[in-house]
Amino acid sequence: MRILVLSDIHANLEALETALAAAPEYDLVWNLGDLVGYGASPNEVVNLSRKLGTFFVRGNHDKACSGVSSLEGFNPIAAAAAMWTMHQLTPENLEWLRALPRGPVKPREVEGALCVHGSPLDEDEYLIQLRDAVQPLSQSQVPVIFFGHTHIQGGFATDKKEWVTIRPTYDGDEKSERLEMQLLPRAHYLINPGSIGQPRDGDPRSAFALFDSNKSTITFYRVPYNIKAAQQKIHAADLPARLAQRLAEGH
Ligand code: ZN
Repeated sequence: MRILVLSDIHANLEALETALAAAPEYDLVWNLGDLVGYGASPNEVVNLSRKLGTFFVRGNHDKACSGVSSLEGFNPIAAAAAMWTMHQLTPENLEWLRALPRGPVKPREVEGALCVHGSPLDEDEYLIQLRDAVQPLSQSQVPVIFFGHTHIQGGFATDKKEWVTIRPTYDGDEKSERLEMQLLPRAHYLINPGSIGQPRDGDPRSAFALFDSNKSTITFYRVPYNIKAAQQKIHAADLPARLAQRLAEGH
């Protein structure tokens, strides 16, 4: 089974369309949440995501933008974007976002994988550094847990003797690139495909991953997209200018 793993699209239609066009052949899509919030195309992104598949985990922005959670803990820019998004969403898409499942969610089609937005122990927790991953990896019952939320491509792994941080290193940032990683039989992994619509690991290219469950490989992808077009929509929508600026910075 070849699974396209997407996360943190954040209403960036330009990035999502370009990533899909660059993606290899796949059987399924797993979406790790934060479809909306920050970007200017919430309905378009929800509509397209719903066409791609049926597997979703809710993100903190999906909750805030659909009224499942309050805006408490959101910075002023994120809160302003969430309010704007809530007003833009169609009643049907609002209802659909409200019904998204809380992680962790176990995919039915593939053994040995689990999907979450933040952490398997807390859907809103950020796994940023290796020490954040020690507890979830120690308690993991499956070889691979897919997570998002940090917008940082890579993840963490352990064979219970060594603990490592995974950060794909690419040649440059002008072209599409990919890096394949073999999963080792006795190790446990936390894998972040990166963010489709608002990368924060210093690389502004759209990020995603392909999980080949037969070959036990993860392939990380980075794809340049039309950042200017996404920025123009953010400005035209009167969303905070910082949301446009950070797309070009990848932070
Ligand atoms: Zn996010």
